[in-house]
Amino acid sequence: MLDQYNRNIHYMRLSITDRCNYRCSYCKSFTPLEHKDILSYEEILKICTCAISLGIDTFKVTGGEPCARLDYLSFIQRLKSLEGCKKVTITTNGYLLEKEDLDTLKKVDIDGINVSIDTLDSEHYRLLTQVDGIEKVISNVLYAKKIGLYIKINCVLLDELSESEILDLIHFGKRHDIPVRFIELMPMKDNKRAHRTKKDVLQLLSNVQKEEKEYGNGPACYYRSDQGLVGFIEPIHGKFCDSCNRIRLTSTGFLKACLFHKDGKNIRKYIDQNLEEVMREVIYHKPQAHDFEKRMVGMSMSEIGG
Ligand code: SAM
Repeated sequence: MLDQYNRNIHYMRLSITDRCNYRCSYCKSFTPLEHKDILSYEEILKICTCAISLGIDTFKVTGGEPCARLDYLSFIQRLKSLEGCKKVTITTNGYLLEKEDLDTLKKVDIDGINVSIDTLDSEHYRLLTQVDGIEKVISNVLYAKKIGLYIKINCVLLDELSESEILDLIHFGKRHDIPVRFIELMPMKDNKRAHRTKKDVLQLLSNVQKEEKEYGNGPACYYRSDQGLVGFIEPIHGKFCDSCNRIRLTSTGFLKACLFHKDGKNIRKYIDQNLEEVMREVIYHKPQAHDFEKRMVGMSMSEIGG
């Protein structure tokens, strides 16, 4: 449906858990919620069915770490089979996946998997995430690619990444034909810190040409270069609020119209009455733009659902 600024809102990010097996330095941990506070899969599916009736046809399953929640695979299968649901993707750190889970994701015809990898350097990866996991994650990425799943890698452009770590990721992407996207760090929950930008990455590349083709639901812009295909998502330096097409559902049922603003409503208690009206209201009043340039958000990405 169209919001008050005429943007077509058709993409919903679903956080199915606030819990994560990683403790990334920039995505602060917090006290996990109790199970009773988290929406059941039935509740999420009812919300998704209503969202579809309002024109939402694309869903991203996220968290926390979505693969940390029991039965997430059958949830994805049920979501995929909702009438009117066109596309379901997942974003994961890739560590909890087993090969048979990837086989199942292939079987249920998931439309894509974004794997978050900030560095391929095993020691740096361990320091950053508190998990000694890069080998397992890479092996999962390569297996997923082998069985024909559509994979993308997302890397947050932290200041502490060296030029060679950035280039290693780009070369890895080129070698295995996997798009790599660099994401600008957003100032959330005490993590205001220096970070790198698109310009820093582009200057490491030669023969850079802007790519016209789009690869996904969102705001990434891509460049081809001798080193490989590289995407960028720049919420601040390349602000894309004018074309933002998304809303978010937190694991507790808060329908959040913008990552930055507090606007929205906890829709859990409306699931069995007036849901459509309440969702319509929240979507219609989606704020015009974020204000990350001026201040930060008091919640971490894993609380909101990144
Ligand atoms: N655990 C899953 C994963 O690793 O993809 C899903 C949730 S995680 C919060 C989603 C993405 O948000 C990850 O790629 C993570 O790096 C990114 N992220 C977390 N905090 C961020 C921030 N402040 N700015 C930009 N991206 C952030």
